[in-house]
Amino acid sequence: MKYLVMLGDGMADYPCPGLGDKTPLEAAYKPCMDYLAKNGFCASVMTVPEGMVPESDTANLAVLGYDPKIYSKGRSPLEATSMGLEMRPGDTAFRTNIVTLSDLGEPYGDKIIIDHSSGEISTEEARELIAAVDAALGDSRRRFFTGISYRHCMLWENAPGSGISEKIYDFSRPHDILGRRIGPYLPAGEIGEVYRELMEKSFDILSKHPVNLKRVAEGKRPANSIWFWSPGVKPKLENFKERFGVKATVICAVDLIKGIGLCAGMDAPKVEGATGGAVTDFAAKGRAAIDAFRNGSDFVYIHVEAPDECGHQGDAPLKVSAIEHIDSEILTPVKEYLDGTGEPYRILLMPDHPTPVSLRTHTRESVPFVIYDNSHIREGVSCYCEKSCAGLGFYPDGTSVIKLLFGMETA
Ligand SMILES: [Zn+2]
Repeated sequence: MKYLVMLGDGMADYPCPGLGDKTPLEAAYKPCMDYLAKNGFCASVMTVPEGMVPESDTANLAVLGYDPKIYSKGRSPLEATSMGLEMRPGDTAFRTNIVTLSDLGEPYGDKIIIDHSSGEISTEEARELIAAVDAALGDSRRRFFTGISYRHCMLWENAPGSGISEKIYDFSRPHDILGRRIGPYLPAGEIGEVYRELMEKSFDILSKHPVNLKRVAEGKRPANSIWFWSPGVKPKLENFKERFGVKATVICAVDLIKGIGLCAGMDAPKVEGATGGAVTDFAAKGRAAIDAFRNGSDFVYIHVEAPDECGHQGDAPLKVSAIEHIDSEILTPVKEYLDGTGEPYRILLMPDHPTPVSLRTHTRESVPFVIYDNSHIREGVSCYCEKSCAGLGFYPDGTSVIKLLFGMETA
């Protein structure tokens, strides 16, 4: 038996006035998804447990069968794993953005956060800046690593606060406080102060750095401060193969989801052309999935970020088009390949959470899913969408869907 999971990040939505009061899923021309819904088992599921924030790592962990209440440890350790960093026992990973703060000689706490991405600074420039930060603020226990663009990582062995709580400190997300004075959002208190001091010191190093002086001279935003958030220890995910008995591959461009796959012992090949943005090489992901099956994987998890990105951009037509691309360039060719093998297979199609274009952020609400089994055709619904799946059964626990897929629970 082969298993395919087609996960469209943030694909679920509300009816949109611009789409004739249809949701993007209803409005999209997606014959393959609708075929699966017509002949498969359809229902709705709550992927994010009560009281948890509907983040992609949380929801994707649930979809892969790992209870987020136990395994969700912050985004940074997953990204660190995906970056190829070896986390030592006792290491805490911190997402370390390089951000743009106002630079008018005001005290650090009075600065305004202008850009969480420093004008999407290039990785080459960032590498020099992170090296300067590491040289000045790093030591044998505290190390800074360059990631991509503005997204970097600090690993700190026995980080302050790490003995007390796994969360250490509730750092503010830089993209949530743009345009505001940073004082109230800086880490504070006995433990927070240590992190605040590093951030403040980084300003002195970075604001004078030649890379930034050149950026300012060119009218670009300087990356003049580091900003810590989402710290965590590496989650000990039970090996997916040992748990479910399948050789698994994750096809994904986003570090966060790739990191989950790697922590669970899955293969995670690099897909050329896959960007993790609204515009990506959809077909390359379909080809990568087929290659994974050809190379002996029994389970392939394709994650596409594009619909989520369209939701964040508030662009309903672009979201419709992303769904159509997933249908025609990923799902259709992979299903054709599976049909061609003559073997039994199952496909799970679902989003991780809604990202409604009207809200431009994730919501904690149920999402529609389909499980199609080519050797067990069922009577489903004519359209794969929120409305048609809503009345067909509801699973309050996100981890139940993968058990349905593997036949460990019966629908
Ligand atoms: Zn997501």
